[in-house]
Amino acid sequence: MSENCYEVNMIQRIAVLTSGGDAPGMNAAIRSVVRCGVNKGWMTYGVRNGYQGLIDGLIEPMGTREVGGILQRGGTMLGSARCEDFKTFEGRERAIRNLNQKGVDALVVIGGNGSQTGSYELSKMGFPVVGIASTIDNDLFGSDITLGVDTALNIALEAIDRLKVTASSHQRAFIVEVMGRNCGYIALMSGLAGGAEAITVPERETDIEELAETLRLAYEHGKSHAIIVAAEGAKYNAAALTEYFKDNRERLGFSVRSTILGHVQRGGGPTAADRVLGSKLGLGAVEAIERGEFGVLVGTIDNHIVTTPFADVIGKSKPLDEELLKLAKILD
Ligand code: ADP
Repeated sequence: MSENCYEVNMIQRIAVLTSGGDAPGMNAAIRSVVRCGVNKGWMTYGVRNGYQGLIDGLIEPMGTREVGGILQRGGTMLGSARCEDFKTFEGRERAIRNLNQKGVDALVVIGGNGSQTGSYELSKMGFPVVGIASTIDNDLFGSDITLGVDTALNIALEAIDRLKVTASSHQRAFIVEVMGRNCGYIALMSGLAGGAEAITVPERETDIEELAETLRLAYEHGKSHAIIVAAEGAKYNAAALTEYFKDNRERLGFSVRSTILGHVQRGGGPTAADRVLGSKLGLGAVEAIERGEFGVLVGTIDNHIVTTPFADVIGKSKPLDEELLKLAKILD
């Protein structure tokens, strides 16, 4: 048995919440936790509005019927919130008191980096928690791909494809800024899939003169459009790139337009891949609880559903795939 396995009395009740930034596929994970939990003979509860709901005691029974018809919906039917009180010991104590009052034996937290930091803090106080890696940023160590990334990526790609059409009609360069906080995953993958001329990511320095030269050459070679995909967390995000191109317009000989995709990327109905992933991660969480394995994050590594102790997840950053960065450079 691993050090994260410990004896719990027979599981009777579990609760599930979604926290932090919403991600497409969260509903699939909620549905799966509830239905797989019911299948084990447990009572299942939903917590409204993330950690805020835990502190406010918004913990209600939620069965198989209540999670019907949500699979295809983006966002989260439970609601999500950012909650400063949960960062305090007293806030978490109140949360545990409320969980104990309802007789909840284990909690599933569906969320990203910040939310799983909260899970870790809660589990260090002795409450049995299992996390599900869910964020469009794909910045969680312990999961190659997090829940919601595939949908966000496809939305970004669709936007790039559309911008290409208008860009070629007007012979313009377009900057598309995509989300991902300090992680360049969505920028790299959507740039690669969308055939961008250049990609900027936080993990790698951008030689701005070289980037401008790439675009200039693209025009010289008769390309009718040029797309730069910029990660929001990159030094050269849309604002910085726009400023640079404005300042150097005369010299470079072309202007750029910029589009910031923002929250549009989060709002879509989940792709098939995210619905399936959410369903598998939900089962993974229920099976971890059944094994008495707590204080762990459920994620995907090499296409397998695996658990990783929070202690090995929190505070670590996930490197970008160097090979894909190189490939993007060759193909642009
Ligand atoms: P995400 O989970 O999408 O990364 P945030 O970073 O906003 O979202 O975190 C969501 C919530 O997780 C915060 O509002 C807070 O309630 C909780 N949280 C974040 N960091 C901590 C921490 N160090 N200790 C306890 N709770 C935390």
